[in-house]
Amino acid sequence: MERSKLEKFRSPSRGNGLRALVPLRPGELLFRSEPLAYTVCKGSRGLVCERCLCRKEKLLRCSQCKVARYCGSECQKQAWQDHKRECKCLKSSKPKFPPDSVRLLGKVVFKLLRESSCASEKLYSFFDMESNIQNLSEEKKEGLRHLAVTLQLYLKEEIQNASQLPPAFDVFESFAKLPSPCRLHHAEIKNGAILSSRCLHLVICNGFTISNGEMQEVGVGLYPSMSLLNHSCDPNCVIVFEGPSLFLRAVRNIKPGEELTICYLDVLMPSAERQKQLKEQYCFDCDCPLCKTQSKDADMLAGEVQAWKEVQGSLEKVEDLQSQEKWDQVLAICQTLINNYGDRLPDRNIYQLKMLDCAMDACINLGLWEDALLYGSRTLEPYRLYYPGFHPVRAVQVMKLGKLQQHQGLYPQALVTLKQAFELMKMTHGRDHSLVEDLMLLLGDCEATLRVA
Ligand SMILES: [Zn+2]
Ligand SMILES: [Zn+2]
Ligand SMILES: [Zn+2]
Repeated sequence: MERSKLEKFRSPSRGNGLRALVPLRPGELLFRSEPLAYTVCKGSRGLVCERCLCRKEKLLRCSQCKVARYCGSECQKQAWQDHKRECKCLKSSKPKFPPDSVRLLGKVVFKLLRESSCASEKLYSFFDMESNIQNLSEEKKEGLRHLAVTLQLYLKEEIQNASQLPPAFDVFESFAKLPSPCRLHHAEIKNGAILSSRCLHLVICNGFTISNGEMQEVGVGLYPSMSLLNHSCDPNCVIVFEGPSLFLRAVRNIKPGEELTICYLDVLMPSAERQKQLKEQYCFDCDCPLCKTQSKDADMLAGEVQAWKEVQGSLEKVEDLQSQEKWDQVLAICQTLINNYGDRLPDRNIYQLKMLDCAMDACINLGLWEDALLYGSRTLEPYRLYYPGFHPVRAVQVMKLGKLQQHQGLYPQALVTLKQAFELMKMTHGRDHSLVEDLMLLLGDCEATLRVA
């Protein structure tokens, strides 16, 4: 990037942050970065290329460790520098496999030993990153100690003692810098592959969950400069990925000096729940306008309390089945709940909305296009309410809907929907993003068909 549009600053109440240097407009690209290090997450291992993160049926296996997989020899070649030393560690650990966080930190160690400064550290380096150690419970610290030992064992093929680590690299403290769910992975707290379409670029503490264009989690990476971004439930910037590359864009008009913010979590949560999660995972109290006014809570929890509590109670089960790709079971549960509670819960109730979303995804995976379109259409209005303005999650949802309409031969409707998706996506993803290229092809097809008709 020629002239920087943003700078690091210290805010009295929030520690480090990033602010605008010049007036910014929606859609403007503010920062792009390759990760310092990244790895596919557990749930995606064997399904996506470890270099470009694209999903492919048949992947090539690294002939040395037989663990790393690539979409082709080009990606394998490109990945070798980053994989060379971990390859030996992976091989010697077999049949065990390190937790995601251990593998990720292993990659950080080798990267720091190889390169003195990385582009992703332009504004803030790995050593600058804060670790939150002082806020951790004893139990969490114990978990980190356990991980530190696991890392040392995992690396022992290449690194036998602390003097071989990068200067000033503290293994224990480094774990405390990692994204927290990733940190806890040794306990298998959550299945890594969250396949829901809602699951956006969850930014976690210092790390980022890398989502593919369709907003499914595929990996986890460290982008030290971006860990300066503070949170707002109603942010003025968004992060979108293309493979492992990260793009930060403005989604509003932003004045010089104004702080840049992104949203660390899924916004489909009432204020109290958001506050709780932010406190637990990131150790702060959110004072954004949305939290102060709690203005969307009434909509989020609209309808009969008994009914939404029941729906809410089934979500975990549904998400679990989703991660196992048991689509017919997902659909069966969603359908039952939607049919039972449909008249007592409006679609804007967030639990009902999540069910509609899951039902749509299940239908897509089962090839039930008509039903997918029915469920999906019901999510559009609530999405507009909860993801207002330019939001990548809504952009992708609108595109999905357009695709479904086109598939059903509803060309005039599809054209309108796809154009809407384009208006959103050129701001959130940028015109060069591969998903936007796909979208333009769909639009072209749709227009051509209408011309002939
Ligand atoms: Zn690849
Ligand atoms: Zn290998
Ligand atoms: Zn907030």
